[in-house]
Amino acid sequence: MRILLVEDDASLAGALAQMLRAEGHAVDAVSSGEQAVLAARQEPFDLVILDIGLPGIDGFEVLRRLRGGGGTMPVLMLTARDPVEDRVRGLDLGADDYMTKPFAMPELTARVRALVRRSQARAGPRIEHGPLVLDTAARRAFLGGEPLQLAAREWAVLEVLLARVERVVSKEAIIQAVTGWSEELSPNAIEVYVSRLRAKLEPAGIRIRTVRGFGYMLEEYQGG
Ligand code: CA
Repeated sequence: MRILLVEDDASLAGALAQMLRAEGHAVDAVSSGEQAVLAARQEPFDLVILDIGLPGIDGFEVLRRLRGGGGTMPVLMLTARDPVEDRVRGLDLGADDYMTKPFAMPELTARVRALVRRSQARAGPRIEHGPLVLDTAARRAFLGGEPLQLAAREWAVLEVLLARVERVVSKEAIIQAVTGWSEELSPNAIEVYVSRLRAKLEPAGIRIRTVRGFGYMLEEYQGG
């Protein structure tokens, strides 16, 4: 795993880099948003750990530029700010995961491991559902023949639902499939991912039904 670490707090950056290297990852550390955007354009990183509060352009702007350029690399955001507001904004911009400072190092390594597992689970079949195609080997999605951008967790939720078309999947089962064992993800977060998937898929006639108090069901494709 090649990780881009974007953090202007030198002591925190040093500790994070040391810990990630100890876990066997290659770490490139930069301390400004501009450097991060340049680095991400030059190298295909497997994961970006991105602080929000940075000198110059902030982490949100870095994320916007990465996603604006079509980049799908997983992004884990770090913040010391108001978690609710930042979480929503980060998710809207396509962040895959989120941590609020201060955090325990083992918690961060657990999140990184979960993101690594998902990005490495690439050897799989091509999944088709109406106009939707997931090329799980190349990890690319298409809708009606056009590339479809999906954040890592949106992809993970969609894969779970696609594996059980016309069957109700509980929120707990989705959480288990999407997170690592030591992670905590609330049912509300799953609602966020599902609503983002709906926004992308429903215009093409692909419907995810809510089963109140239980979970979700991807309906059989009836035509757009
Ligand atoms: Ca900072």
